[in-house]
Amino acid sequence: MRRLMPGRGDKPRALPSEETHRSRRAAWLRAAVLGSDDAIVSTASLMIGVAASSGSRGSVFVAGIAGLVAGSMSMAVGEYVSVSSQRDAESADIDVERRELTGQPEAELRELAAIYVKRGLDADLALRVAEQLSARDRLGAHMRDELGIDQAALARPMRAAWISAASYATFALVPLAAFLSVAAPFRIPAIAAASLVSLAALGALGGRLGGASAGRAALRVAVGGALAMTVTAAIGRVLGVSLG
Ligand SMILES: [Zn+2]
Repeated sequence: MRRLMPGRGDKPRALPSEETHRSRRAAWLRAAVLGSDDAIVSTASLMIGVAASSGSRGSVFVAGIAGLVAGSMSMAVGEYVSVSSQRDAESADIDVERRELTGQPEAELRELAAIYVKRGLDADLALRVAEQLSARDRLGAHMRDELGIDQAALARPMRAAWISAASYATFALVPLAAFLSVAAPFRIPAIAAASLVSLAALGALGGRLGGASAGRAALRVAVGGALAMTVTAAIGRVLGVSLG
């Protein structure tokens, strides 16, 4: 049969199911952590750039808010588009499968049984398993075992968009809160320090979730963030001098 999303479903899982669950959760959380790094680095860099150009308290604050809003929107749109295309591919796969189940049910039953044979059942048992699962939920069995689509985990574009926008906005508050809590002379160091500490903590968390060294991950993301802030501070200073 034609398959729009290749590479899923009919291969035996290499990992035991507990490992699979753990890696799925890690993928979700790591995506959230990456979005939050982005929120902290972008917002802090914007604010530091404007502050270094000797921008007023008001303009640094506006830069932070603008960064928060723009970043959240951009994350939401990006996530909506990417998850929508995943959902379109899933729906197209499911439509094809539904048509095939109606048009050629015997061939589809044999196809399902063949998948279980590939996974290690002998032919008789595979056919019985295919028959019993089909009797209960034919489309569900084909979605799960042939297409690798989990009905409970179908792509949800709006939810993905909201989650990523909310996560971005929340973490963009870190440099904003640091800025609001200190007097003017300390605003750049306060934004930088709060952001770097949060980045290091998130880096350590991300590293741990990915099974890597927490220390090295923390260092990597903190150095990257420090670099971004230094570059925008330098550009802000140069522009502040030349334009101001
Ligand atoms: Zn099928």
